[in-house]
Amino acid sequence: MNNLRDTSSAVATRDRLDRPLRDLRISITDRCNFRCVYCMPKETFGADYQFLERSALLSFEEIARLARIFTRHGIEKIRLTGGEPLVRRNVEQLIALLSDIPGLDLTLTTNGSLLTKKAEALRKAGLKRITVSLDSLDDAVFKAMNDVDFPVSRVIAGIDAAAAAGLLPIKINMVVKRGLNEDSIVPMARLFRERGHILRFIEYMDVGATNGWRMDDVVSAREIVDMISRDMPLEPADPNYTGEVAERWRYKDGSGEIGVIASVTQAFCRDCTRARISTEGQIYTCLFATQGHDLRALLRGGASDDEIHAAIGKVWTNRSDRYSEIRGKQTVPLKKIEMSYIGG
Ligand code: SAM
Ligand code: SF4
Ligand code: SF4
Repeated sequence: MNNLRDTSSAVATRDRLDRPLRDLRISITDRCNFRCVYCMPKETFGADYQFLERSALLSFEEIARLARIFTRHGIEKIRLTGGEPLVRRNVEQLIALLSDIPGLDLTLTTNGSLLTKKAEALRKAGLKRITVSLDSLDDAVFKAMNDVDFPVSRVIAGIDAAAAAGLLPIKINMVVKRGLNEDSIVPMARLFRERGHILRFIEYMDVGATNGWRMDDVVSAREIVDMISRDMPLEPADPNYTGEVAERWRYKDGSGEIGVIASVTQAFCRDCTRARISTEGQIYTCLFATQGHDLRALLRGGASDDEIHAAIGKVWTNRSDRYSEIRGKQTVPLKKIEMSYIGG
């Protein structure tokens, strides 16, 4: 196994299970222009849903300040997410602030709907690569999943715009939910193999409390690999680094690779190096955490960088989360945080 990341920084703060703090995901808005059935179902996120007030959101300056403090704990990668990060006004200004931080791998996950408008500005602001979510090539299936009648062609146009702007490599995320989009697995694999983008299949997860998750709805990574392999034979590939979320598989004919994120059937908590910052500046040490720790209060209460650094260190060194490994073996937490708030 290639341990590139484990040797690159001597300062990484470690948790109670000896896992270094390497990755930070920041949710920059809890709003989204999609209502994906597995993430922000309309029944909950309807017209009268109360999103956060603007003043509750961390400002770009606050986010950038936190990011710099986090790098002192060993953070090497920041992913901006949400909600839909591109609906946050002037997001490219935040990209410019973050891309100034030396040695940081900065990326962003988007539903692609605004990419034709934004790709060029994001690239100019300093973003180098991007992940775009797309669950099907079939309009009827995709529309049933995004639930706002958004057509596939506009996401594909967004992906093309990102490629033309040089936001490379592009990764494509596809969540697979049984009974909804299994038939899209092979066509998606075929298209993105042709286009040279890395498609990553994500097992449908029990995040949040609103998507009505059932184990029966999960199509396992194993099934997905088998399904594709029947058409286009695959073989396992080594991870790029310790703690890589996606398990890599390459086409035997050398025509590219896919990833599978088996967070349900093959939990990877033991290598989990990710912290998350919610839209209003709480730090969470697990996607399934029920409670965060308030960094915004420190930022706005006059705390020094060293004090904030110490507070983050305390949270991480106390961490022992491994929800996916113990899923089903213990009582599910009652009030899980929604993914759009905590950042996927
Ligand atoms: N709006 C952006 C997007 O959709 O790419 C970024 C935020 S979204 C919460 C981040 C990723 O989480 C997306 O790729 C989405 O498909 C995935 N996701 C959301 N809910 C999920 C669930 N219940 N299980 C697995 N993945 C999920
Ligand atoms: Fe929005 Fe992304 Fe959630 Fe879909 S997965 S509802 S695009 S935040
Ligand atoms: Fe990390 Fe929590 Fe997911 Fe396990 S369940 S991989 S600890 S975020």
